[in-house]
Amino acid sequence: MLLLDRRTILQAGGAALLTPSLTWAANKRALETFTASPMGAFVHSTMVVGEENALVIDAQLTQADATLLADQIETTGKRLETVFITHLHPDHLMGIAVLSARFPDASFVAHPVVAEILAQVGPGMFDALKGNLGFAAGDSWVLPTALDGDLELEGERFKVLDPMVGDTAAITPIHMPQFNALVASDVVYSGLGLYIAETLTAEAFAGWRASLDALEAVGAEKLIAGHEGPVPMEGSAIDFTRTYLDGWEQALAESTDRVSLASAMERILGADPEAFFSVEALKAAYPE
Ligand SMILES: [Zn+2]
Repeated sequence: MLLLDRRTILQAGGAALLTPSLTWAANKRALETFTASPMGAFVHSTMVVGEENALVIDAQLTQADATLLADQIETTGKRLETVFITHLHPDHLMGIAVLSARFPDASFVAHPVVAEILAQVGPGMFDALKGNLGFAAGDSWVLPTALDGDLELEGERFKVLDPMVGDTAAITPIHMPQFNALVASDVVYSGLGLYIAETLTAEAFAGWRASLDALEAVGAEKLIAGHEGPVPMEGSAIDFTRTYLDGWEQALAESTDRVSLASAMERILGADPEAFFSVEALKAAYPE
């Protein structure tokens, strides 16, 4: 999970709410993105809008953002058929409560490996966090079921990539050759500090870098990052993510405790030590 600090939220203002959706069209189908508010950690949901039906990838964090996403889906006039969840983090998961209430006929699915993880942690995560994120007690939340094979909408197939390491151990990006697009989820961040606390080992970093190489090799022209900061970024989000990982390792190597790591992160990465993701990384790197 990634929550932002007060300074970042103030800097961002309400800009994220005004960020226009990206839309690409192919074969009478459109690919659209929805970007969360600062409180929703600028997480992306991606929509494929077909001739009569629609599908959504990732469900948002807060009730307010999930409601705006539901409104955007409703505006298309299409029937929401499928909601696909890329990984276990609550910023991609909590909004299922809103979407399942608004679109009771929709199917909620995930890659079988992710579905198994969600079965273990999803319901408890929703119950633990719902009070802080606007979800009223008793709101419905649906456990995604295992999807074998590709995502599909009106005969178009979208390739669910095998689980790979990003800001957690098992994330499943989606390749959409029809749109020359890749929904990278939290393997790739764009212009925003990475949530790094779950992947601090050299092995996890090697895995994350291998994932970036694999996504780059897909060669999609359009890449939708899991999170996108409010200031438009020049250049490749994959390169941004690599640079951040490199900077983190440098900061860690130069540090001996939480205090020196915090200042190295600030100097090398421009990270705010009070930000949620920084605090979590500090605690994970130096447990005491
Ligand atoms: Zn995320």
